[in-house]
Amino acid sequence: MIREIVIYGDPILRTKGRKVTEVNDDIRQLVADMLETMQEAGGVGLAAQQVGEALQLTVIDVSQTENRPSRMWINGEEVDPNDHMPLVLLNPELTLSRETEIGPEGCLSFPEVSADITRATRVTVKATDLEGKPVEFEAEGLLSRAAQHETDHLNGILFIDRMSSAAKVSLGSKLKRLAAGEV
Ligand code: ZN
Repeated sequence: MIREIVIYGDPILRTKGRKVTEVNDDIRQLVADMLETMQEAGGVGLAAQQVGEALQLTVIDVSQTENRPSRMWINGEEVDPNDHMPLVLLNPELTLSRETEIGPEGCLSFPEVSADITRATRVTVKATDLEGKPVEFEAEGLLSRAAQHETDHLNGILFIDRMSSAAKVSLGSKLKRLAAGEV
């Protein structure tokens, strides 16, 4: 079922997610809904908060974005990210490289807003999947950026928090209208 995507201004986007301790039918249904909602919206990732659930749960799919490459390693061996999409990540924990890069970012909870955001170039992701199995991989490119953006959501952090102050000022009135439900 396609769910309504929560727009900036809703306090759930600022709520840190609870850990998912048990995968039951409700969680499985939520994941199915999130995947469907993300695909329908043409998004690269979607966090549980964005469909109104404050949980440590996100889905990611970079397979539809040929113009923004991703790299992925499992056990140190490079793999084709498309073979591993969509990703369902429960309770993800990230280790970030010290090296950073700037790149464009948007968010389904901020329609028509995009900005350059500085992120770690490389990330190590540790999580569990829907079967309770450990998931561990390293990523660069769009997949690295998406993992960082989505994990931020699970902790109540939004990409506007990571924008330069100049970018935030120039988006100020648009953000106010979004938060007021006027867009
Ligand atoms: Zn987002």
